[in-house]
Amino acid sequence: MEKYDIVIIGGGFAGLTCALALSKEGRKVCVLEKERILGGAFQSFSRKGQRFDTGFHYVGGVGEGEILYPLVKYFELENLPWVQLDEKFLEVHIRGEKHVICNGYDSFVNSLSSEFPEDRQGLQNLTDIMQDINRHIYESIELGTNATTNEYMTIPAIEYLQKNIKNSILRDILCGQSVTTELSDELPLYAFLQSLNSFIQHSYRLKGGGETLIKNLVESVHKYGGTIKTRCHVQQLTIGNDEKIASAVCDDGTEFIADTFISTLHPALTLELIPECKQIRNIYRKRFQKLQDSAGMFTVQLVLKPNTILYRNNSIGIFNSEDLWHTPYGKDSHVQNMLINFNVPENDSKYATNIDLLTPMTWDAIEEWSESKIGKRPKEYETFKQEKAKECIALAQQHIPELQDNIEQIWTSTPLTYRDYTGTRGGAAYGIRKSCNNLLGTLLSPTTPFENLFLSGQNLILHGMQGVAMTSILTCNVICKKNILKQNS
Ligand SMILES: Cc1cc2nc3c(=O)[nH]c(=O)nc-3n(C[C@H](O)[C@H](O)[C@H](O)COP(=O)(O)OP(=O)(O)OC[C@H]3O[C@@H](n4cnc5c(N)ncnc54)[C@H](O)[C@@H]3O)c2cc1C
Repeated sequence: MEKYDIVIIGGGFAGLTCALALSKEGRKVCVLEKERILGGAFQSFSRKGQRFDTGFHYVGGVGEGEILYPLVKYFELENLPWVQLDEKFLEVHIRGEKHVICNGYDSFVNSLSSEFPEDRQGLQNLTDIMQDINRHIYESIELGTNATTNEYMTIPAIEYLQKNIKNSILRDILCGQSVTTELSDELPLYAFLQSLNSFIQHSYRLKGGGETLIKNLVESVHKYGGTIKTRCHVQQLTIGNDEKIASAVCDDGTEFIADTFISTLHPALTLELIPECKQIRNIYRKRFQKLQDSAGMFTVQLVLKPNTILYRNNSIGIFNSEDLWHTPYGKDSHVQNMLINFNVPENDSKYATNIDLLTPMTWDAIEEWSESKIGKRPKEYETFKQEKAKECIALAQQHIPELQDNIEQIWTSTPLTYRDYTGTRGGAAYGIRKSCNNLLGTLLSPTTPFENLFLSGQNLILHGMQGVAMTSILTCNVICKKNILKQNS
């Protein structure tokens, strides 16, 4: 049985970036992924010869001098075929009225204040906060600290906007970037602005989508001597006589021994891998079981007839609900808010090959089918998905009339799909819901009661490429007892 310095559970973006960082640090690393395809929520998959993306649509701030660049460079992703979106990177349709959000802090303020002059100062103040976040963002992953120190984490985004932006339509436009986020009263200003900030710097898609990203990470992990194993579903973490985690045991009984373990799963799911023991008190388990997760997502993936619809190098956010911050996304709700994302055509054509439509969906919408398994879902579930897809397509057609008659295939996913393919609790799209009312409870530390078990991934600090990359560095800093990013800059 081979012994590793570090075994990492989960081969999503978190698992692979942790593996790369620790391999670069000279550690003997092994990643265990339950699925055949690596990448978790960033995996690409094929249906009838077409490539689709699970969660990778677009990211902000990956260009040189931008907020994510130090991380992109550290993880050797800077030379990927990033496609910068147009200056007007986001069209936001608020109850039928079209508005645009521009990149660049000045263009962002100037374009929106030409429509809402009374809010010029409010917009300026918002960009000042974003730049403050820029200045301090890397402090949050310094050795031993985390983002809890940031005051913007304690301010509810909704309250800030209500106090500082006079025009209610503008307040809604500013949410355009968060159309796939479950906007709630608890959403911290930091979480809200951190992503808007990166997108305003410049927004990017990636040729080849998540597959390009994940393939590059895998190659880099191998280059630095790391091992990655797929179809290794970890079922248990055993405890040794020294009271540390001794091994990870997979469903076929294979055991992986290491000095240190990282779990990139939801903390509650990580604790389910550990048998009852004195180190983990029931109150600790319950604390994580009780934490609420973000909503999941309903995704419609449309394959278009060749050479019919021009590729658009920006995204379209649609808000039709009256109150964005309290929109229901459950069983009886209709699709009102949605993101339309064009994927970069693989053949460099000016025509789009496929488009994704995304809208949040809460667990109660599909809960009645939660016992069913992939490939054996009941007919009612399929009908439900078809009806929802029709609603999404009808909404999309209002903005892309050419969709009529030009759709070749339709594929859909619900939170059940995400739960079963990526192992996320309740199919949540972004992991634990961050709450400014329970900051200490929802911003988690990488450490656990076991001195050789650490946590990482989207559940700890923030989701998405930026949040997860930062979290991986935080976890690896704690394990290596130094700031690995600073040392490489
Ligand atoms: C629909 C959707 C759209 C999104 N769009 C974007 C976007 O455009 N831009 C962006 O930046 N972010 C986006 N996100 C968010 C982003 O995808 C996630 O935050 C990020 O991929 C999470 O990475 P992770 O490694 O923490 O978790 P995951 O990707 O969930 O990885 C966890 C991995 O662990 C594996 N696993 C689970 N249990 C076990 C086990 N017991 N044993 C072994 N392996 C196990 C899973 O199979 C999975 O591969 C989107 C998410 C969704 C769902």
